[in-house]
Amino acid sequence: MAKVVIIGAGLTGLSAAYHLEKEGFFDYTLFEKEAIPGGLCRSVRKKGFTFDYTGHLLHSNNPTVLALLEKLSTAMPLVHAERHSHIYSYNTLTPYPYQQQLYGLPPHVIADCIEGFVSRTKNPNPRSFTAWVNAHFGSGFGTHFFFPYQQKLFAYELEKVTASWTGRFVPSTSLRKLITGAVSPLLSTNVGYNAQFIYPAAGGIDQLIAALTRELALPPLTHHTVHEIDIAQKKITFTNGKTESYQTLISTMPLNQLLATITNNGTPAIKRLKKAEHSLHCNSVINVNLGIARPVRPHTHWIYYPEKSYPFYRIGFPALLAPSMAPAGHSSLSIEISHYQSSHPTQPSGINHNQELIDSAVAHAKKLFQFTDDDILTHTVLHLPYAYVIYDQWRDKNLEGLLATLAQHDMYSIGRYGSWHYSSMQEAILAGAQVIHKALPSAQKQPHSYTPAVVLENNPKKESVLRYNKKQISMQ
Ligand SMILES: Cc1cc2nc3c(=O)[nH]c(=O)nc-3n(C[C@H](O)[C@H](O)[C@H](O)COP(=O)(O)OP(=O)(O)OC[C@H]3O[C@@H](n4cnc5c(N)ncnc54)[C@H](O)[C@@H]3O)c2cc1C
Repeated sequence: MAKVVIIGAGLTGLSAAYHLEKEGFFDYTLFEKEAIPGGLCRSVRKKGFTFDYTGHLLHSNNPTVLALLEKLSTAMPLVHAERHSHIYSYNTLTPYPYQQQLYGLPPHVIADCIEGFVSRTKNPNPRSFTAWVNAHFGSGFGTHFFFPYQQKLFAYELEKVTASWTGRFVPSTSLRKLITGAVSPLLSTNVGYNAQFIYPAAGGIDQLIAALTRELALPPLTHHTVHEIDIAQKKITFTNGKTESYQTLISTMPLNQLLATITNNGTPAIKRLKKAEHSLHCNSVINVNLGIARPVRPHTHWIYYPEKSYPFYRIGFPALLAPSMAPAGHSSLSIEISHYQSSHPTQPSGINHNQELIDSAVAHAKKLFQFTDDDILTHTVLHLPYAYVIYDQWRDKNLEGLLATLAQHDMYSIGRYGSWHYSSMQEAILAGAQVIHKALPSAQKQPHSYTPAVVLENNPKKESVLRYNKKQISMQ
């Protein structure tokens, strides 16, 4: 038995493990279902190209996160860069954000946006994202950008989506800003929470995961998929037949899956919890990565595509993030297509899944960036079954209570999908750092039941466990 069990070795779970160890606490086990840690922060390498599970750039303004990155950067040099991103509509490339940079768009589009902004009516309590856009930006911005773009991104009925996710993700505008941006080309790229980014210089966001994992004395136990959690007995059963008991559980697996695994649902509160699993919705993303045998240099890191005629919502250019992402003289494209599966999305099993969509995306990309089939050296499709969580009325009303009920059972469900949030890597690191203040006191409530012999038997890295057990003893 480990006092603290962490489920999921994505960035959140690894951060929780790192921060537990930083506190001198080693009576924990971190379980991961995949063969390698990283979750969404994994990368694949093909024919000299590196592809992330869609571009993953670090944006940070937080001292805890910056200090951790600084520490990790001794073994993992980082590049710091200014973001360049654009929107492509009406055959025009305009700098992000749309609501501040209309320069170059057809006059009727600019007129619609300005007119809509001026005549927008205040709505103190917009119930949907569309109502929020109409109240904040006006109908012109809605029609020409926000509605088609978000519809494509969420792949979900837009009227059911609330605005509670917007916050820092949607920069505001003003009449002055939008008129200035309509009559003059880009003045500044320094807009939004992601105006600057940090990325591993050696390429691939998995370098961050590798650096963080190297810091751990207790490596994650991979190939462990949670099958069942007996919430009353505090016992986990994995699909490989192994079991583990805990005093405190930190879960970063998707919340709907966590709820589905809970058994022993005798109490009404737990029965209500279990019912919630089908009320949590998210979309899935298909990420088509192309390695191109010649330079495709649009001088932007990524482009958003609001128009319906394009099947993708965004194309990124990984080779521009760090030189090692593609062989010299080559380039790469990371194409993102979203779709909705069900309340329990899965990894597709057949390789031809959504093939038509993928083929259409590649055909459009070839036209847009003028390359041919012969230029494509590698074509790698990655699937993200859990991508963007859907903020709807049900989620807004019930999520907090749901997480609080779990916490009453010493289960802390955190991370992008654990807490069912639209959040970034910075928040994943912080969630892992913060949860230990809740997890440690409840883990320390009960007498220490830790026996080094058991841990040594179960843990493949006996030497490092021994070394750190000594450290633990000397710290007590
Ligand atoms: C399309 C897209 C683009 C993004 N781009 C950026 C970006 O540019 N910058 C940024 O900062 N953030 C970005 N993010 C957000 C970022 O990926 C997440 O915030 C972060 O990676 C979440 O980490 P996590 O550990 O919470 O979740 P995950 O990475 O999902 O990790 C959860 C882990 O739990 C494991 N697991 C799941 N089920 C089980 C089970 N039953 N048993 C055991 N283990 C299980 C999984 O295998 C996984 O390793 C992006 C997200 C998406 C979807």
